[in-house]
Amino acid sequence: MAGRNVAGTTIRRGGPPIQPLTIVHTSDLGEIASELAGTRLRIFPRIAGLLRTVRPDILTDGGDTLPAVAEGEPGLAWLATMGYTAWVPGNHDLDLPASAMIPAIQRFGAPVVAANLVAPGWTPPGHIVTGGGRVAIVGLTRAGDDPSWTVADPVAAAVRAAAELREQVDTLILLSHRGADENAEIVRAVGAVDLALSGHLHQALPAPLWIGDTPIVQVGANGQHVGFIRGGAGNWGHELLTPEDFPPDVTLVHALQEDLLHRHPGLGEVMTDLPSPATGRPEDAQWPLADWAADAVRDVVGADAALLSRSAVEPDWTAGPITYGDICNLYHHDEDPLVMARFELPALVAAIEELANARFFAVSGLAVTVDGARPEGHRVIDCRARAAGGYIQVAMTRHQARFARPASCAETGLTVRDALATAARRHVRLIPPTDRRIALIGGMPPRPNWGHTMR
Ligand SMILES: [Zn+2]
Repeated sequence: MAGRNVAGTTIRRGGPPIQPLTIVHTSDLGEIASELAGTRLRIFPRIAGLLRTVRPDILTDGGDTLPAVAEGEPGLAWLATMGYTAWVPGNHDLDLPASAMIPAIQRFGAPVVAANLVAPGWTPPGHIVTGGGRVAIVGLTRAGDDPSWTVADPVAAAVRAAAELREQVDTLILLSHRGADENAEIVRAVGAVDLALSGHLHQALPAPLWIGDTPIVQVGANGQHVGFIRGGAGNWGHELLTPEDFPPDVTLVHALQEDLLHRHPGLGEVMTDLPSPATGRPEDAQWPLADWAADAVRDVVGADAALLSRSAVEPDWTAGPITYGDICNLYHHDEDPLVMARFELPALVAAIEELANARFFAVSGLAVTVDGARPEGHRVIDCRARAAGGYIQVAMTRHQARFARPASCAETGLTVRDALATAARRHVRLIPPTDRRIALIGGMPPRPNWGHTMR
């Protein structure tokens, strides 16, 4: 912490000196919590190791925490062991109907706060008071896909909560499944907020956004970073910590391995071999493993083309045997059903623009030129299909097809995982393709406006 803006040892807020709070904040862990096994699940023992070193007073999570966690999946158990003080559901947590999500929320077991959320027959607490009665944490969520939830205006909910709580506590924290920019607007509108902890945007901010004395923290996704906040009203310090830098909780490592093999004995089955490492850099338009996944999906479905989210692909694999567990973890939404969507070319171009804001996509059977300097929605300047004829049959996930406008759409009965496993079995060696199918001119487009995220 040396050299950082870290608060001193005591804080006054119209009363006697009080000890500073320590807070650890995570967000958007759902992709790793949904995993069956392998590389990304190992973050949980690392986070546990970090927590044991840092020993925060308060542990918060900013949402998109539970998606795709079916009953009994290990991720939920690892989340439950972390000992959260409070968490707020995110939009992907609310993609499922209340009837399915409420039991998962209960199995997670952490206190849920959401001042702007109502479900049939269940209204979560809007806030909790913790830290010996000194601290209130108010939750603000974001609407998901499922209509059984009602999500109200976050500003009005935060104003109401602040009016109720401001005089009762000396630290008022917003725990919000909204990005830092949006939380800045909420903090401006509410006024009396001491700290805002963000979610939803998968980008970590090294330094908080400050609105007066109020820091707005945003830690990114998937446990790559967590926020470490120390201090109190008017005197906060913040540092992004990397769980990978902390020694893992060994007990949890062993428990995780045993549990995974018990649940999924087939995960260790070797399916193919990767002769040399495959790596993807964020600034590259194409990643080798994303291209391999797109080719695999196109081949197995028997489509002319395939379109996947590049950011849902694990960028790096080391050389060596590739197990079924590795295959399950290659695409973060590996259980998503695949559909065969039929497009005319202009509609396909529009789908690529819309799905990924022409930034994070992977294709097979297509040659796409993206001009990153052009405005959002106008970046795909050329798209050629290998298919002949008027329509192009494109394999994509059902989730993606909902945001595209295909002329028609048919279920394939396969998931992404099925397609990747079938393709892996077909080859003794996995050789990621190296052709240039995405031409990027004008540089990588700026960060998209994540009104919805492609998966
Ligand atoms: Zn979200």
